[in-house]
Amino acid sequence: MRTVSPTTVLGEHAVVLGASVAGLLAARVLSESFTRVTVVERDELPRGVAPRRGVPQARQVHALLARGGRILDELFPDLITRMVADGAIVTDGAARMRFVLGGHRLARCAPSGELDVFASRLLLEHHLREAVRALPAVTLLDRHDVVRPVFDGARATGVVVRSRPGGGDEELAADLVVDATGRGSRTPVWLTEAGRTAPVEDRVAVDVGYVTGRFRLRPGALGDDVAALVGTSPDNPRGGGAFEVENGEHMVCLAGILGDHPPTELAAFTAWAATLPVLDLHDALEGAEPVEPLHQARFPANVRRHYERLADLPERLFVLGDALCSFNPVYGQGMTVAAIEAEVLRGLLRRGMPSVRTWHTAAARAIGPAWDLATGSDLQDPRVEGPRPAVGRVVNRYLGRLLEASTRDAALAALFLDVSSLLRPPQALLRPDRVARVLWATRRGTGRPRVGSPVRAGADHLA
Ligand SMILES: Cc1cc2nc3c(=O)[nH]c(=O)nc-3n(C[C@H](O)[C@H](O)[C@H](O)COP(=O)(O)OP(=O)(O)OC[C@H]3O[C@@H](n4cnc5c(N)ncnc54)[C@H](O)[C@@H]3O)c2cc1C
Repeated sequence: MRTVSPTTVLGEHAVVLGASVAGLLAARVLSESFTRVTVVERDELPRGVAPRRGVPQARQVHALLARGGRILDELFPDLITRMVADGAIVTDGAARMRFVLGGHRLARCAPSGELDVFASRLLLEHHLREAVRALPAVTLLDRHDVVRPVFDGARATGVVVRSRPGGGDEELAADLVVDATGRGSRTPVWLTEAGRTAPVEDRVAVDVGYVTGRFRLRPGALGDDVAALVGTSPDNPRGGGAFEVENGEHMVCLAGILGDHPPTELAAFTAWAATLPVLDLHDALEGAEPVEPLHQARFPANVRRHYERLADLPERLFVLGDALCSFNPVYGQGMTVAAIEAEVLRGLLRRGMPSVRTWHTAAARAIGPAWDLATGSDLQDPRVEGPRPAVGRVVNRYLGRLLEASTRDAALAALFLDVSSLLRPPQALLRPDRVARVLWATRRGTGRPRVGSPVRAGADHLA
């Protein structure tokens, strides 16, 4: 059992609401600064790799971006080793991944030294949960509904919980309450009921339909690759991915937006894969043996709640994870952003107890790049409604040329993927020397997507 010695004890008891990825990561970080941490979860938490009601999306493909893997490895140094012992795959950067983005097949990246972990979400959450369960300061209080927070004047002092099924209410006193209950978070309602202001929400509606299947692919169906990702293109808003996971299986997902959703019957699913910008996923599915039925999920809108703008937010009530901001899942950002938030929270707690405004301001800053990437990309589809500043249109045209240049320039491809993996800020794409490199490489380009064969190039990462 790993023990984490508290840096500075900031309080006796912290309560985290929700024991999914964001709640578990928050609990890990809080266990360094609070004598006790209780994680309240309405589901019965399984002891093994199993689905549960409160996280229906867990049967869908869940890519862990490189930045998320890096933070998880720092917070739980044994985690990846344990996952690998259970069949997870680790690769060295994007070298064994295939990307077709914006209608361009990116050049093959060189190994980068960055760990990329491939596993089902169920396996990842199981290992994360067991690692947190092993922390002496943390108690997982499952089969308990969070009813509401308790406020004393301008401060949260605990939560009321109710045991399931049909138990009585109990108050848990807390020095800090952290809401990680996901998209359906009731904090906005609780604030209104307490006579305070609910946060303004930004919404970009995409109505994404997702269907994922778990398969045994025929040997070599993806060549030497561990993953193949096919993003949407300007003239084809359908995409998907195939990812190797534990047990020698692959998860293949297809996704479409604005009501154009993939079918859930296998033959139709495979036929739908042939309508993507390239045939890689369709061909990988040829002869594939399903190991479970296809699972469907819908995701209506990117939603960001601006708690940092509230003047009357009670102290000691922090919101994080999907409860704070949830993203179109096709970009694979949710778990990584939760990890980034945990890292930011850890940094703040090491300097003392942050005010509620300090936390939400820091979190908003940390979320910004992921939000801009996801919504900026979604808004390239003219049918998606939302604000389109002129500068965004210029950036999008530039990104199209960057992807075109990345078909031949492996270093530019690696840079783009680093930004998409949240390893580098989006501004890294706009450095003058890189802009010049892109413009020069595409000076004779048509500006139109052209999907070709992968270019085998081994250039290093750009500094
Ligand atoms: C289809 C789909 C695909 C996705 N793919 C990816 C991907 O590829 N990569 C990626 O990083 N992310 C992906 N995501 C996002 C990812 O699932 C979330 O970002 C991640 O789970 C973190 O969310 P969370 O912990 O904040 O909330 P959730 O995962 O929604 O968990 C909330 C938890 O709170 C509990 N809860 C809720 N209300 C109460 C209550 N009142 N009392 C007690 N407990 C409560 C729930 O039971 C649950 O355990 C995807 C999402 C969807 C929908």
